[in-house]
Amino acid sequence: MYATGLRCVRCQARFPLGARATCAACLPDPGDASIEDTSLSQTLAVDYDEDRLRSVLDRDRLAARPPGLWRYAELLPVGAPACRVDLGAGGTRLAALTRLQAGTGVELLAKVEGGNPTGSFKDRPIGVAASVALERGATTLAAMTSGNIGSALAAAAARAGVAARILLLAAGGLTGGEAEVSLEKSAQIQAYGARVFTPAASMRELTRLAREAAGALGWTWMHDLAAFQAEGDKTTAFEICEQLGWRVPDWVVVPVGTGTHLFGLWAGFAQLQRLGFTAGLPRMAGVQPAGADAMVRALDRGDPEMAPLAAVTLNLALPITHRVAGHHAYHAVRASGGTAVAVTDAEMRQAVLDLATREGIYTEPAAAAALAGARTLIASGAAWPGSRIVCVLTSHGLKASVAMRAWFPPPPRIEPRLDALADAAAPGEPRGH
Ligand SMILES: [Zn+2]
Repeated sequence: MYATGLRCVRCQARFPLGARATCAACLPDPGDASIEDTSLSQTLAVDYDEDRLRSVLDRDRLAARPPGLWRYAELLPVGAPACRVDLGAGGTRLAALTRLQAGTGVELLAKVEGGNPTGSFKDRPIGVAASVALERGATTLAAMTSGNIGSALAAAAARAGVAARILLLAAGGLTGGEAEVSLEKSAQIQAYGARVFTPAASMRELTRLAREAAGALGWTWMHDLAAFQAEGDKTTAFEICEQLGWRVPDWVVVPVGTGTHLFGLWAGFAQLQRLGFTAGLPRMAGVQPAGADAMVRALDRGDPEMAPLAAVTLNLALPITHRVAGHHAYHAVRASGGTAVAVTDAEMRQAVLDLATREGIYTEPAAAAALAGARTLIASGAAWPGSRIVCVLTSHGLKASVAMRAWFPPPPRIEPRLDALADAAAPGEPRGH
């Protein structure tokens, strides 16, 4: 294995790979702090022996391997091949959005992460974090999640033959009784054989409960392996560069909740450049829902120590609705010369419909937020004419079909006669647009 340790992106302190989940210098006493309480709970990154890596890995050696996460095994923090969870994650399509880019003056592409085995990009970070847990001897894998992490973890645990326990939250656990858990994700998680619980509690209470369950029940929590999740996210950056013939896009636009995904993407682009696979780096753009835009506000203030938003407005994009994003994501956006933008429910809805009706790509609103964010960058001039923009479409629309069903009229019932069918099929106002 080429991973050598953990490093804090805020203070540069170094720790062994097996150290605790937060920086002991930046956050000496995590107490009951949850990822919703402080951006300091997310500052750690994995370091590698990159001199050794340069001697064992090059573009030609990669080109001969099958697609997927483990194509990049040397660049991931898992040593034992037997511990690698392999569901066939990764290797997703980089789609040219030729119809949606018309008239924009930019080149618009989409990394279609809904094509992963459980329907979201989470198969990458959880595939790696679960593998790290297995390598450490874990027998029960656990997660607190509004859904996509739970689906990915339940599938990974099933593949590995270990137990999965999921605390399934509504809207990131932020909205008390106002929102319900996702029916699609709840069923999907249970279908993989995981035990699902829906606690009525604050994130702070749940964080304490998780720590107690780790000690008393031996559960291994995915949020304690966040630094390793970001390593899985690096593979999306690796694929984007390979799919572009080892060229780097000008902008990478990604929805941001805690920001680990955006940070992992940035870490991937930066690592490829250091290893000499690519020249240059993209600008990273984070997209958040209006009302849950902690990172947008932090960047506006120039202060990475973001205060949690007091309350978060319910919005369409529940998977990326958080009160605070991690310091690591703030660092990545600044280092890249990028930005963060907030988008409205109406903009996300329009993006879902445009991707589906004009490109044949069905996403949940949180994923389509990337296109809505790209449009904001184009309109503001931040994305210059001729620039190449990759939108990371994080999840499949089937993840949120129950909610989106309300956007459309019920399909008309018809009699089995040609005239009835012809009448019903006659051109009219497009529905739901
Ligand atoms: Zn630190």
